[in-house]
Amino acid sequence: MNAPHSDALVIFGATGDLVAKKIFPALYAMERRGRLQMPVIGVARSDWTIEKFRSRARQSVEKIEGFDEAVFAKLQERLHYISGDYGASATHAALRKELGDAAHPLHYLAIPPSVFPKVIEGLGQSGCARGARVIVEKPFGRDLSSAQALSATLHTVFDEASVFRIDHYLGKESVQNILVFRFANTFLEPFWNRSYVESVQITMAEKFGVEGRGGFYEESGAIRDVIQNHLIQVVGFLAMEPPQMNSNQAIRDEQAKLFRMIRPLRTDDVVRGQYRGYREEDGVARDSKVETFAAARLRIDSPRWSGVPFFIRSGKCLPATMTEVLVMLKPPALSELCPGQANYVRFRLSPDVTIAIGARVKRPGEELIGDATELKVVNRPSGDEMGAYERLLGDAMIGDGTLFAGQHGVEAAWAVVQPVLGHATPLHEYKPGTWGPSEAEELTTGICECRSPVWLLPHAKDGESS
Ligand code: NDP
Repeated sequence: MNAPHSDALVIFGATGDLVAKKIFPALYAMERRGRLQMPVIGVARSDWTIEKFRSRARQSVEKIEGFDEAVFAKLQERLHYISGDYGASATHAALRKELGDAAHPLHYLAIPPSVFPKVIEGLGQSGCARGARVIVEKPFGRDLSSAQALSATLHTVFDEASVFRIDHYLGKESVQNILVFRFANTFLEPFWNRSYVESVQITMAEKFGVEGRGGFYEESGAIRDVIQNHLIQVVGFLAMEPPQMNSNQAIRDEQAKLFRMIRPLRTDDVVRGQYRGYREEDGVARDSKVETFAAARLRIDSPRWSGVPFFIRSGKCLPATMTEVLVMLKPPALSELCPGQANYVRFRLSPDVTIAIGARVKRPGEELIGDATELKVVNRPSGDEMGAYERLLGDAMIGDGTLFAGQHGVEAAWAVVQPVLGHATPLHEYKPGTWGPSEAEELTTGICECRSPVWLLPHAKDGESS
């Protein structure tokens, strides 16, 4: 039986940053495509009028290229606003009234996680949770036990199939492309394993620092902010076994299975760094030990990947803003034909979308030697994709959980990073504009027979060399 389509969207925390930055633009895009056929009810404590709420919506979307007044007029007609405390029964009673005949509301919790319990309880008691779904935003806890506690709170009212944990990373075309490229191409399967793959590297780099969000960053750091979720999700897509495509739980299940096979990180698997100048940022403690860079070496105990190191790194104030995956293959038998780097498969996830295969072709002339070249499978700007939030909101409205993080996957990913959270490993300072502390290089030595240097960006444009 098809899942029912949501018939109302309720946004808790409607006055907040996420709503302004991501949710209104996604709603506007849905309206433009004719995909938003429901009322949108904002709930927050601020004593706003509906006019103020609409004006906030306008501010969020009017700079979008090709902004269309007629589309916005339709969107603004759908907006409603309820002001009240998140735990007050009066707020939830007002919401129930505003929902009218809606039988399958979608509740979006765009509020700090500390507020979740009272909202969930209110939704349950008021009847607003009946037939409903709920979207929660990352972070899904701060560690394994708080992630479990969050799920327990949600499950007091919603079953797991009605819970949609948004990791917007999974909504990105470029990330989904890894999955399609892997499983829709027969030629890949024979070498996508420990017999031919030497190492896998994933780099998520940002040229900028914390940009005024030092207070927020102090609560997370690179491991919690991106390694536990985005980068481990990418590892999942690269390394999981083929999902059975007949269920929208299948991808989550395969991901979770894979995450459980990743060994929990040991302290010598991780290097943490902090850029010089971070402690002078607003909202940052002068003696902060929070990492703005982390590199880790993952090991996967699966028949396919045993012995293949997965190196992941992420940081701020690095030389470039980009995310890239490099699957390095082992050297060929006649390695003298291709000194230096062997074959590889490269996925650039942002800012542009590229899938490329690094190959060797004969250098013209007398020498019998291969020069490096790339076969580009895809190479396009990322601007033409449906925005991740639009995609995910649309999926949640039809009850499709394929691209959402599931409870088991989230908990398994926390179990991987749990031993290295906080100050379990030393912190090394690095100069802004470099690829992090030099100690990160040491992670890659002696682990595999890597001929090629790891932490490599073979296609590097100016300023992106590793
Ligand atoms: P905000 O800090 O902007 O808070 C959202 C709204 O929640 C506020 O407008 C405020 O509304 C209410 N609120 C804030 N603090 C409290 C509090 N202590 N008690 C009760 N209500 C409070 O959050 P964001 O919009 O930035 O984020 C919302 C959620 O999304 C969070 O869980 C965050 O971690 C997550 N997230 C945010 C991202 C972003 O880019 N902003 C990115 C990824 C995830 P009012 O006072 O009117 O009730």
